[in-house]
Amino acid sequence: MRPNSLHAADLAHLVHQQTDLGAHESEGAILIASGNGVRVTDTEGREYIEAMAGLWCASLGFSERRLAEAAYKQMLALPYYHTFFQKGHEPSVRLAEKLAAIAPEGLGHVLFQCSGSEANDAAIKLIWYYNNIRGMPQKKKLIGRVRGYHGNTVATASLSGQPHMQADFDLPLGDRFLHLSNPNYYRFGQEGETEEQFSARMAEELEALIAREGADTIAALFAEPVQGGGGAITPPRGYFDLIQPILKRHDILLVADEVICGFGRTGSLWGSETYGMQPDMLVCAKQLTASYQPLSALLISDPIHAALMAGSRKHGSFGHGFTYGGHPVACAVGLETLAIYEERDIIGHVRAVSPVFLEGLGALRDHALVGDVRGVGLIAGVELVADKASKAPFPPAAKVGLLVQERCQAAGLIVRAIGDRIAFTPPLIITAEEIREMCGRFKAGLDAAWAEIEGKALA
Ligand code: PMP
Repeated sequence: MRPNSLHAADLAHLVHQQTDLGAHESEGAILIASGNGVRVTDTEGREYIEAMAGLWCASLGFSERRLAEAAYKQMLALPYYHTFFQKGHEPSVRLAEKLAAIAPEGLGHVLFQCSGSEANDAAIKLIWYYNNIRGMPQKKKLIGRVRGYHGNTVATASLSGQPHMQADFDLPLGDRFLHLSNPNYYRFGQEGETEEQFSARMAEELEALIAREGADTIAALFAEPVQGGGGAITPPRGYFDLIQPILKRHDILLVADEVICGFGRTGSLWGSETYGMQPDMLVCAKQLTASYQPLSALLISDPIHAALMAGSRKHGSFGHGFTYGGHPVACAVGLETLAIYEERDIIGHVRAVSPVFLEGLGALRDHALVGDVRGVGLIAGVELVADKASKAPFPPAAKVGLLVQERCQAAGLIVRAIGDRIAFTPPLIITAEEIREMCGRFKAGLDAAWAEIEGKALA
């Protein structure tokens, strides 16, 4: 444990989220004190390149003054108001107008919430509401995917395919949550199976699931264009092209969870654009405000919005909302963030530096620890394997991913180990030079980890 009083107070009082609490108790936490561009500095003065942009989110890095100024200006003008009871405020209207203008076709209505979890939770509620209003009360089941991540509320953790977020929390809740296989071609593609054949097998699994459960019981499929929390897993070729017609045929909605992919991460404004998805709802958050303020948005199609209108007529009100949903300060920061993206052509920048990023990480395929490198835009996953030829994984108890993460940290690089996949989503403003530095530090971390495990029998 680090002996200063801040770390002692942290250990005594702060419950860290998504943390190995035992490791925290024995080792303490890294407490971040400040940021500059793509770098952050901890309370002990150590500097890191933040190759995860925090939690896949700080798209404009850690020192964008314009966002701080937009927040301050809005706080002085109107620090708080809500959108309940026919009230509202300009920042939420202007941001909704802006999102509707840039949204994928047909998603012209915007419901603001505070987090990705809340927006996905609201999507679930609206889907159930929609099917009740249109007289299909049996059509309520939701399909997620193994290792998919949609949030941590009771419903969204049930929809997610992350067993450690369900065990002992009494989740998944009820019997409305179904899961398809994880579409990781490298890990789950069969011997001799092409990527396209793997996608076809995934689509057949969807057909079989619908046949088994009955299309009249299934309301929607939620999918991240690129699975983030699952390990930065890009979809296999043709995956969404095969999945979508099946959903359409069975009147099953598609919700694109763009909490990570939205606003340029994949090299297009939306991940849906990159992968040809035509969602009925789209969830975005994180990069909507560059994460300088908590804000998420659920973009809704006309038919679903019409159901909200009909329901409101029936019940006298649309009965959903949060105190801080569409907070004016968060919306003002969101507007400024989107203005900066356009002024600086952030998507053009992502496209320009993406080859440096993907080739820089790709060059590490030769490393003894690396089995696979896959990514798009500025998101990538590096899978560590015990045997490159057979793709045999390390035994989970050996925690090789965590070892690499720690050795990277010692080399001045924050990455995230998801099991034995190392995820990268640097701030979108990262330069080619900084990417090269990032890759150099990653190689140093890999080398240090390899020096410790080479030749050892891991169990
Ligand atoms: N969906 C996806 C795809 C995410 O990656 C996340 C968060 N990492 C969420 C939803 C949940 O967002 P939040 O943590 O803001 O609730």
